[in-house]
Amino acid sequence: MRRRTFLQGTAGGLGAWAGWREDLLNARPSGVFTNPPPPATFASDGYKPPEWLHYTQAVYFDGYSPPLYPHMKDFDARRLVEVVTELGGNMLRFQPIGYRAYYPTQSFPLHDELGSRDLIDEVARECRGAGVHLYCYANYGMGLMLEPEFLKANPRFNDWLLRDPDGKPYGLYSHYGWMTTPRMICLTGDVYRSALRQVAREFCAHDMDGMYFDSPSEFTYTGICFCADCRRNFKKFTGMDMDRLRDFGTRPGLNSNPASFPPDADMEALQAWYAWADQLVQEDLLDLRKIIHGSGKFMMCHNGATWHGNSLLLQYRIPDGFMVEASREVHDRLMTGMKGASMARPYRKVAQMYLGSYAISWFGEPPHGSHWTTHNTNLEDGDEILMEGFTNLACGNTPIYATANRVYFKIGSGSTQPARDVFEFMRRIEPIHKDSVPMPYVSLVPTWGALQLWRNRQVSYNWPVMTQAMGLAMLDERISVDVNASTEISEEWLAGQKVIALCGASGVSEHNAAQLTGWVAAGGGLLATYDTGLYNGSGQLRKDGGALKQVLGVEMKGTPLGSQPECYYRVKENHPALGNHAAGAIVEGDNQIVPIATVGDATVLAEAWSMGSDEVRGPAIVANQYGKGRAIYISGSLEANYVGDGVKSVRRLLGSIVQYLGGGAPQPFRLKAPRGVYGVLRRSPHGDLALWVLANVGFKDAASGRMRQEYVPVNGVEVAIRIPDGKEAKGMMLLRAGVPAASFRVEDGYALATIPRLHIAEVVHLALRT
Ligand SMILES: [Zn+2]
Repeated sequence: MRRRTFLQGTAGGLGAWAGWREDLLNARPSGVFTNPPPPATFASDGYKPPEWLHYTQAVYFDGYSPPLYPHMKDFDARRLVEVVTELGGNMLRFQPIGYRAYYPTQSFPLHDELGSRDLIDEVARECRGAGVHLYCYANYGMGLMLEPEFLKANPRFNDWLLRDPDGKPYGLYSHYGWMTTPRMICLTGDVYRSALRQVAREFCAHDMDGMYFDSPSEFTYTGICFCADCRRNFKKFTGMDMDRLRDFGTRPGLNSNPASFPPDADMEALQAWYAWADQLVQEDLLDLRKIIHGSGKFMMCHNGATWHGNSLLLQYRIPDGFMVEASREVHDRLMTGMKGASMARPYRKVAQMYLGSYAISWFGEPPHGSHWTTHNTNLEDGDEILMEGFTNLACGNTPIYATANRVYFKIGSGSTQPARDVFEFMRRIEPIHKDSVPMPYVSLVPTWGALQLWRNRQVSYNWPVMTQAMGLAMLDERISVDVNASTEISEEWLAGQKVIALCGASGVSEHNAAQLTGWVAAGGGLLATYDTGLYNGSGQLRKDGGALKQVLGVEMKGTPLGSQPECYYRVKENHPALGNHAAGAIVEGDNQIVPIATVGDATVLAEAWSMGSDEVRGPAIVANQYGKGRAIYISGSLEANYVGDGVKSVRRLLGSIVQYLGGGAPQPFRLKAPRGVYGVLRRSPHGDLALWVLANVGFKDAASGRMRQEYVPVNGVEVAIRIPDGKEAKGMMLLRAGVPAASFRVEDGYALATIPRLHIAEVVHLALRT
């Protein structure tokens, strides 16, 4: 196929949604593009993935490590599929390409031990024999082993190398510690992009069920490429000369810290580069989807880069499902997993989440240096795997075990039991759990606009810190919580919400602001903290007091004041939102606040006070009535404090604010157990309720990595699930123990039960009748 003809087919243009059109067009540098393509919402192409894909027990086999790399000659497909079965899996993610291809291909560097073998065929045969579904991994721009001697023998791959402004190859990908360091590749050039499509065609000619791409929009895998193709195509798309990007020329890993960009670097040109690169990702994914769906197979992607401000907007809607990157800490895993689930749910996509890890030092194994060395064949599993599996399920995601390589070699004492337990439990509860939905009292909304602050070299704390911190406070308060990305705020979703929290959601689009304003006016309860809405949907500072000025009753006067030590919040008046904090009470405050003035009838409930200078820095907590609804604004971030120090009064304060915003509606569940025990409430498609109780207790060294510690059992955990109006409680079951809750009784509208011994997880099922 000729190199440049394949890209000419139109791939985008599936229709635009007015709200996102406005935001995306605003986000583009002005006056640069002569003909910007319309933002797409990525409607379905009509393909329907097999129903079983929505509820699989998946196992991942890594292809960057033994038994495939560096040597593949001893690879045994039968042993691999045995491992999948041993783990209780029914679907395998196999990796036919890593640094090299393990099947005959025209388009990718071949493994020199391949001979006449085709590992896709070998694995497919064994999978079919064992009744195991199979889909295959392809990388999307990851670094590759392109050693000088290999390039000498295979000169056509010279065109894959990332090029600096002078045309010289640059960029090493130092993550994996094999014999040579992988080279970064030109992901934006025609040659590699053509190869990607060819790989998809070749994979799909095999007897397997689907394809997986790792990882679209992940620009940290590469850098700006100045090869001839890229120079020409960039100019064509943006009208700019690529030399404007010289200052970024040898800075691979572009996503990293925008505050570290060179002071004189051309940010307008960088924004144009991302707009162009995203357009290429869009063309790639839509073309790949066409190839894959055209052959009757499903498509999955890694979504680790989906929630980056410079990624392709809404790219997670293109494939049939995606893999949510794992987290180490349980509360972080819950928040990240719930966010992923919220992106998948409206389109009934699949959200998978790692169970275990694919590279141990990522989880803190003593690294002996800086290498992110693979250790996929590492030793035995234990309690952590159980906890991760139940946590993934509680989010509504399907676990994917990583990695089968560990079990393949029978190293250490080995153990497949924890993964088996998770998968067996998953199978057992399918009628209750599949397609169940969360039942939040408060929903946390990370905004796409907050991610756009990079355009001004600024860092937003909305997602990685404040939203997750608020989640932890709610878990500790036993307030039912969910996470929903701002890209998925629909009228239907809003109608089901009691309380929404925007935690340092710096950028809020006009579209989202209008939605939220209407929802509060109709009776919703909104919490906003710190710089929420100080910036617009494209990350530009607003001069009009903020996107939510009327709703919050707060006019923002500018960017946050400089940090001062020893700042506290001093309560000005008694108010139900403050719980038992009466006028005169002093609570922990934020050292950094946004300067504001109140608007209309809004009331200052507390002021920000600097102890050292005895200075009142401004209002700290403001309450406002808006239409039939309520709003509370906090000018700092109490939640960010909470994740750092766990102070009880801060948690209680955040809890009472959320309950006040919920108009005093009763909590969907109650839980009496030591802190660290988290509850997640879900409703099954036929209306029953299930409370997932995760006992994250006795595991305190998480920050030092995967320590294989044991969790401590908790005795006599009392739970109560509120019986929905018009329903009657039929009975309660402890699903993991497989026994009826002996102490089941009904009291004041709640169904009560005791979990006699809670170790890691239990799911309390409340059967209802009308
Ligand atoms: Zn290039």
